[in-house]
Amino acid sequence: MKEIVLVKYGEMALKGLNKKTFEDMLTKNIKRRLKSLGSFVCTSAQSTLYIDPQSDDIDLADVVDRVGKIFGIAALCRACVCEKDFADIAEKAAEYCGDILSTSKTFKVTAKRSDKAFPMKSPQICAELGGILLEKFPNLSVDVNQPEVTVTVEIRDTNAYVHAENIKGAGGLPVGSSGKAMLLLSGGIDSPVAGYMMAKRGVHIAAIHYVSPPYTSDRAQLKVEQLCQKLTDYCGGIAFYCVPFTELQEAIKDHCPEEFFTIIMRRLMMEIAQRIAAKDNCLALITGESVGQVASQTMSAIACTDAVCRIPVFRPCVGMDKTEIIEIARKIDTFETSTLPYEDCCTVFTPRHPKVRPVLSDVEKAQNSFDFEPLIQRAVEGTTMKTFNYEA
Ligand code: ATP
Ligand code: MG
Repeated sequence: MKEIVLVKYGEMALKGLNKKTFEDMLTKNIKRRLKSLGSFVCTSAQSTLYIDPQSDDIDLADVVDRVGKIFGIAALCRACVCEKDFADIAEKAAEYCGDILSTSKTFKVTAKRSDKAFPMKSPQICAELGGILLEKFPNLSVDVNQPEVTVTVEIRDTNAYVHAENIKGAGGLPVGSSGKAMLLLSGGIDSPVAGYMMAKRGVHIAAIHYVSPPYTSDRAQLKVEQLCQKLTDYCGGIAFYCVPFTELQEAIKDHCPEEFFTIIMRRLMMEIAQRIAAKDNCLALITGESVGQVASQTMSAIACTDAVCRIPVFRPCVGMDKTEIIEIARKIDTFETSTLPYEDCCTVFTPRHPKVRPVLSDVEKAQNSFDFEPLIQRAVEGTTMKTFNYEA
């Protein structure tokens, strides 16, 4: 039996005139993601994308697994391809859905007929196929309200399709459809989640990470690269920028009051991030901050950080509890890596008593007592880049 994967668009189905652009982007993302599994023909019609494998040895479970992580998709399912002929549809439905039908108690049939030339109308397809299946599977009874199994028949242009499963898609918008933004990626739990959440809104992610050798180790950087690699399942290709930050942190320590160490460090991170963002056409910054989580994430502290930002800063975790963030981190499989115990540059020279409610003018005064500009420029110049893609 020939099988394909059907993909139903998410909210992009509502995009009116721009729909085609979204559709093309989604198709491109799907093709890229499936490339290493073999050859596929992707066609779209009526807010559905058909992924048709071109050889028998392609495992559709792999296809579903990968496509299930691509943003822009509301639901997906494997479906059996039938002739546009009721006898063929009935025979294949019984066989293709046999396993699940023989182990369930209730079912219903739904039919969608986009080819109005098909001789039977939808209610008739449902009634007749329902009758045939009831006869074949005496364990079943019909429940139109809350059936365990819904057998769906779709009559389309060239073929009919039958399926009995509906898998929830990743939702959101196709990555790339909202432009690009720069994610400040630490080795922690929150920032990978923040990147995932913005990618869900169609944002193509680039990542920037600050290292302070010898205070931070190679392993700490490797851990962040691993996180980057994991994020590509959802975010697609990621340009990863690594910034040498030691000189700046040492200068903060030598020239600024201890209570402002962290806040000034965060302002310098933002400054560097937006310079690199500008070079890479990123229109915003993204961080994993959440209000009140630590001293540098109080509203006053965030205001002091934001004061240096000339582009929007997205903080998708801002209103989430740590437990909620962890739940997502587990789902996207970054949690284990994030909790490996390597130090981040944020934990180098942390003040014993950071200002919880810093006042911007005080912070500016503290920061202006030293000329950081040459060091900022050196850090930008010393920044290295590598790209991560699906399957390293
Ligand atoms: P996370 O779990 O993302 O590390 P956190 O709760 O530990 O967040 P902080 O360490 O204060 O919070 O960092 C706040 C945000 O600053 C992070 O979410 C991240 O976006 C950014 N950040 C922190 N350290 C780095 C770093 N070394 N490189 C890049 N970005 C960083
Ligand atoms: Mg952190």
